[in-house]
Amino acid sequence: MRAEIIAVGSELLLGQITNTNATFISARLAEIGIDVYYHTVVGDNPDRLKKAIGIAEKRADLIVFSGGLGPTKDDLTKETIAEMLGTHLKMNNEALVSIEDYFLRTGRMMTENNKKQALVLADSVVLKNRNGMAPGMALEKSGVSYILLPGPPHELEPMFEREAIPYLLGALGNKEVIVSRVLKFFGIGEAELEHRVQGILQKQSNPTIAPLASQDAVILRITAKALSTDEAEKLIAPVEKEIRDLVGEFIFGINNDTLSSKAADLLKKAQLTIAAAESLTAGQFMSELAGESGISSSLKGGVVVYNDDMKVEQLGVSRSLLKEYGVVSSECAEALARSAKLKFGSDIGVGLTGAAGPDPHDGKPVGTVWIGIALQDGDVKTFKLDLSGTRNTNRRRASQYALYYLIK
Ligand code: ATP
Ligand code: MG
Repeated sequence: MRAEIIAVGSELLLGQITNTNATFISARLAEIGIDVYYHTVVGDNPDRLKKAIGIAEKRADLIVFSGGLGPTKDDLTKETIAEMLGTHLKMNNEALVSIEDYFLRTGRMMTENNKKQALVLADSVVLKNRNGMAPGMALEKSGVSYILLPGPPHELEPMFEREAIPYLLGALGNKEVIVSRVLKFFGIGEAELEHRVQGILQKQSNPTIAPLASQDAVILRITAKALSTDEAEKLIAPVEKEIRDLVGEFIFGINNDTLSSKAADLLKKAQLTIAAAESLTAGQFMSELAGESGISSSLKGGVVVYNDDMKVEQLGVSRSLLKEYGVVSSECAEALARSAKLKFGSDIGVGLTGAAGPDPHDGKPVGTVWIGIALQDGDVKTFKLDLSGTRNTNRRRASQYALYYLIK
């Protein structure tokens, strides 16, 4: 099967947004053995969209559309496809009810425009939208399959996983199940990871292994096809073991785990409390932790001590220490961690200090970060980072590393 992805949206052509939907759809299609031959991007213009569809129909058996399913005038993907295929749109009751529900729940006024979102192509299979209003659609005509998906990635991605992939497998006459397991890495770059597991990557066809990088983690997704979930898991297990044997030291979690969810779990299980004194990150570390539900029994609190005087006045860090070693130092990170622990009476104290950039700070080069972790037994560990990002990526990275050292 040869596939083409048509992303619809003038914003894409204007360079205002990146076509991440095509990247996502391509990667997932590759995993289920469908080859993507072309990516097309077209503006919100019916004539040019018709031309693009005409070309795609000649060279693909599957066309996946992203965007233009919304309620506004420029959203015209389904109208244009209806015209091309000589079919019409009809009201889908289930979609209409869920849109009406949405407006009732949020207490907002529903307009005629919004009803338009419940119109679907006649004879199409409706793909449920669990995170928005516009339903997706799938249909086959004259040997070509058409899949229509909404533009916002948080709507498109779950719809593709839960609705479109099962549809495609059904259309392929495929009775196989697809099971994925995601391994999450920290402290190793994408390129380095790929290099180290290259041998495993190359010899695999089932399961396949796809490396992906997100803002907070490097990911390997292992995907197996089999006749049952059990069998698929049996295919995944030995590959996962092989990967763990090679680079297991960098794995911090699986599937939906994040550094903060792992740190929160660990604190909860060990019944430990934590507090932080943040200079560089100004509360970002605590904010990450606070994103985890049930954290209030572990996270006692913390202080932002951005200015040197505040480190002295609020926490009692000694002025001579700051003078002798500087604020961007192991000694300062240690003092911050100890003081946070003492001030809040917590089991663990965390201190963060560094030179975020763009200019060096206190004589230390941009990207130098010191993290201190004061443990329950009185011991304090400090860690140095040499980051190479911009000011705010360095600050975010520092918070992430502090979480990482906590769970290590
Ligand atoms: P809506 O109901 O939100 O209008 P829609 O299906 O009409 O959804 P669009 O109007 O085309 O979709 O796009 C809505 C938003 O989705 C865009 O502003 C953009 O943030 C995101 N988006 C659209 N296309 C893409 C794409 N190809 N890759 C990544 N994001 C996209
Ligand atoms: Mg829209």
